[in-house]
Amino acid sequence: MINQIKSKQISHAYLFCGSHGTGKTSIAKIFAMALNCESNNDGEPCNKCHQCLNTKNKSNINIIEIDAASNNSVDNIRDLCEEIKYPPVDNSRYKIYIIDEIHMLSSGAFNALLKTLEEPPKYIVFILATTEYKKIPTTIISRCQRYDFKKICDKDIFVSLKNICEQEEIIIDYDALEYISEINNGSLRDAISVLDRCSNLYRNKRINLKDILDFLSVLDFETCDRFINELENKNLSSALEIIDSFIDSGKDSGDFIYSLIFYLYKSIKKDINNKNDIEFKSNILENFVKLDSKLKYLINKRLALDLLIIDLCE
Ligand SMILES: [Zn+2]
Repeated sequence: MINQIKSKQISHAYLFCGSHGTGKTSIAKIFAMALNCESNNDGEPCNKCHQCLNTKNKSNINIIEIDAASNNSVDNIRDLCEEIKYPPVDNSRYKIYIIDEIHMLSSGAFNALLKTLEEPPKYIVFILATTEYKKIPTTIISRCQRYDFKKICDKDIFVSLKNICEQEEIIIDYDALEYISEINNGSLRDAISVLDRCSNLYRNKRINLKDILDFLSVLDFETCDRFINELENKNLSSALEIIDSFIDSGKDSGDFIYSLIFYLYKSIKKDINNKNDIEFKSNILENFVKLDSKLKYLINKRLALDLLIIDLCE
């Protein structure tokens, strides 16, 4: 994309595909800023010119962000097609539409958009973003330049978070930061959000793993380990006691199940060569994942959890 800006060969429509939190809309905004930047010699926005500053302040009227989830009708798109007839103002080069969740458009709306995509005015750039690429008609896809956004690995998330901590002077233990990097399913945005909220909550103190676990309402690894041992030894009452004290501290069954799933997953990955141990843990993990998938339909979640534990201790 940087090369396109450098060589001034701009496509009139881009499609950014990728799962939640992979940075599609953030990149779309930076790309839009670079397109209109008054001095982007190297293809990147200068962050200083009139256009860049306006974009940063969210007052650039030539960059229009639309959420297709709530503007998905034919009429919405027809209005947009009327709007694009007016060229950009304020000496801006392009008028850029960033449309998020584009797969949510109705089929009529897609048809209306298609006509516009076929022959848009030369000052128009569409950046369409989606988490569900397969729901977009091929006629639309064929008119866009497609970019795929991939989830990033935990290690890269860790490095990004570490940089943020250094810049923002957030003091946090290594294992606490590692935990945040691993629980967000490859979404840097979610990981940053956890770090951000924790650093606000624990301002002026060194953040440790226990702070993070408390903040996320999850069980610490030591207790998870003890719980699994109780199950292995069929100590039903001790296992139930651990659940009791967790729930008594103001958390719920869902938090407990989530904690165990994450702990078991990590522990299986770490202990991949210990066959006996893995078999036992995989069986429990499978049962917890099954219960987790049913959880939102259950009225008495605690009862369902207890019944599972009774079953596993038999
Ligand atoms: Zn600029």
